[in-house]
Amino acid sequence: MSAISKETQRLLGSGSTLRAMFEEGKKMVKIYGADDVFDFSLGNPSVPAPESIRNAMEDALENTESMKLHGYMSNAGFEESRQAVCDDLKKRYGASYAPKNIFMTTGAANAVVLALKVMLDPGDEVLVLAPFFLEYRNYVGSFCGKTVVVPANPPTFMPDTDQIAAAITPRTKAVIINNPNNPSGVVYGEETVRRLAAVLEAKQKEFKTTIYLISDEPYREIVYDGVQVPFIPKYYSNTLIAYSYSKSMSIPGERIGYLVMPDEIDESDSFIAGAAVSMRAIGSVNAPSLQQLAIIRAMAQLCDFEEYGRNRKRLLEIMDKAGFEYVYPQGTFYLFMKTPEEDDRAFVARAKDDHHLLLSAGSAFECPGYVRIAYCVPYDRIDRSESRFIALAHAYGLN
Ligand code: PLP
Repeated sequence: MSAISKETQRLLGSGSTLRAMFEEGKKMVKIYGADDVFDFSLGNPSVPAPESIRNAMEDALENTESMKLHGYMSNAGFEESRQAVCDDLKKRYGASYAPKNIFMTTGAANAVVLALKVMLDPGDEVLVLAPFFLEYRNYVGSFCGKTVVVPANPPTFMPDTDQIAAAITPRTKAVIINNPNNPSGVVYGEETVRRLAAVLEAKQKEFKTTIYLISDEPYREIVYDGVQVPFIPKYYSNTLIAYSYSKSMSIPGERIGYLVMPDEIDESDSFIAGAAVSMRAIGSVNAPSLQQLAIIRAMAQLCDFEEYGRNRKRLLEIMDKAGFEYVYPQGTFYLFMKTPEEDDRAFVARAKDDHHLLLSAGSAFECPGYVRIAYCVPYDRIDRSESRFIALAHAYGLN
């Protein structure tokens, strides 16, 4: 019998196909050279972090008293960092929050995990909408919750409210949405959010329960063609927001973000108090102090997303020329392409072996029949990949 938990064994068994592809890419570069390998597998931001955040870190480092800079603090973070987040949310969305409603976290991942830790008892159900960021399953599993997958809704990939309603039971504690969406690149607009909110309200009434909506928003600002991302708490009062500067400031390694816990959520006082003890219970204690002080100084000075826009435009040209079908991407830096054969893993293998194109299988997001192309890469890589995609499509008779 193994000393390793069954849940960890499950994690080891499932592995990360995305990471595996990334490692494979590194091996291929050694064999074929960097110019002959087209790695579109990982969502690591390629736009440089703005100068402002680097300056902010230096300024915080130089001008903060040592005990404050390096010491322990409230689990929720510095009051002034949380106030700065409140001011930013007020300015951008007219939302009225106090520092107590904001919990500084080590990115959106920590924010989602923290929210789940506060609310989940073993066996509680959490709905996720395919295709989804696969870590959600692991986060829910950490608290012995049950992940309930609502099947994908192609070709629009908007939430299917009938399917969501059918999946909700008296044990449903939360629904996790991710807007703009990784991997589909779609953005849920106002109408969609209203419909989703109506279903959740109705189910809360029917079962006399609380259903929290966790809105995971690390790509909030990465949108194109003037698309608006609704501020979800305006539509559904039991909303929690998991936000991160990982993508908006290109600093995923720094681990900084926050969880918004509005007063309007059910049992908000207990939730807020519960978040502090939960942060300790999961061993995270508090978000990094230097980054908390830096984001106050660099707030609202986000990356220039122009480069992603340029990449997207070129990739769409290539897709159209090759003859592939895809979901029109309104946000993030991912394109979700329909595979011309049913077996997306076989397609990914063929793209890699025959054309050195490294893509991520839709199955990794519990949505077979598609692949994700991460276009957060140098423009040149996309530009030079044209002949590879055309040849790949040709092999399927698409051009
Ligand atoms: N949620 C989604 C949908 C993501 O794509 C990612 C990272 O890629 C995360 C959460 C985690 O981001 P963070 O670095 O903010 O923890």
